Amino acid sequence: MILPGATLGMLGGGQLGRMFTTAAQTMGYNVIVLDPDSNSPAGIIADQHLCAKYDDEVALSKLADLCDAITTEFENIPASTLAFLEARTIVHPSSKALASTQNRIIEKEFIASLGIAVAPFAPIRTHTDIDAIKDNFTFPAILKLANFGYDGKGQAVCQTIEDVYHAFDRLGAAECVLEQRINLDKEISTVLARSQDGTITNFPVAENIHVNGILHSTTVPSSVSEALTDQALEMADTIAAGLNYVGTMAVEFFISKEGDVIANEIAPRPHNSGHYTLDACATSQFEQQVRMLCGLPSGNCNLTSPVVMINLLGDVWGKTSPHWQHLLDKPNVKLHLYGKKEARVGRKMGHFNVLADNTKEAAELAQAIFNQLQAD
Ligand code: ATP
Ligand code: MG
Repeated sequence: MILPGATLGMLGGGQLGRMFTTAAQTMGYNVIVLDPDSNSPAGIIADQHLCAKYDDEVALSKLADLCDAITTEFENIPASTLAFLEARTIVHPSSKALASTQNRIIEKEFIASLGIAVAPFAPIRTHTDIDAIKDNFTFPAILKLANFGYDGKGQAVCQTIEDVYHAFDRLGAAECVLEQRINLDKEISTVLARSQDGTITNFPVAENIHVNGILHSTTVPSSVSEALTDQALEMADTIAAGLNYVGTMAVEFFISKEGDVIANEIAPRPHNSGHYTLDACATSQFEQQVRMLCGLPSGNCNLTSPVVMINLLGDVWGKTSPHWQHLLDKPNVKLHLYGKKEARVGRKMGHFNVLADNTKEAAELAQAIFNQLQAD
């Protein structure tokens, strides 16, 4: 076990890294963040910030020398960076697990190889790949960049095969995956922690609403049946075990109108849909990340209150900061801001959690607060 007083490394300085840093510091660990941005949300609160690129071997060697264990908040860290660090100190998740989740084609093939349903898909690397599927792909479909996509960026909806040719060219003819668009009933996600001995602990399943491809809200408990919930949990656990994963991770699922549970993607880190755990679970997903990294047993993941989380994007900022008093004057509403200096449309600036006796009440209050913040 790595105990308080030790130093933990975090690759990536975004909001997920920041909330990890807070959790680790609360427990008495030191945190060193490596991120190329001198103003990163995690870097500005860490005990030390190494301002360097993710492939800077001098900085990585220093990080490895200073840290008892290292983790990441960001799946697009080069797997070679993790491999470099693995040769020098403890690193979770492994470079191998990370590599399986970085590219959407590799990720989907891996999930499918475990016997878990994914949306029907075809790798698209050239026009010839599009020619080859033109008579047997079901539309509508979504063309997605295979690498570096997040928050719905690098995606195009395609109604016809002609659209696919155009969208592929617009995406720079980079490696893509064409996915059949699932007739969505609901979207859910599960966050879990898997320890070095393979023990898995699941947080309660979260129900998510996306707007323009970006997560808008999360509700827990979800309205999904117990049977489908259990299917999703079992699939997520199978994926975690298949990756030999150590740490906190999430799996996003589609629930189709036909009642199928379909895996969308893996996040090898805590997840935006798990932010409700900060205020509505006995242990947060970030404390869980610290625990898994340090070889501690899992904390208690039980839900302590029904909850609705709403994301605060830069869109809510307008000319001035939102009028936080509309939120902070409510005793069961919890505000989390990430310390980002510049608000931009679509940029995740913070979130808030609304606790209530049931999800209906929580949702109503959350929506009222969100409307008010947007209005003024
Ligand atoms: P994030 O970083 O928020 O996870 P992302 O860029 O990785 O986003 P996806 O998870 O692939 O994007 O897609 C974002 C959202 O777009 C999904 O949550 C879902 O609402 C919708 N979507 C994506 N693919 C499909 C699909 N095959 N069928 C139906 N809806 C889809
Ligand atoms: Mg997603």
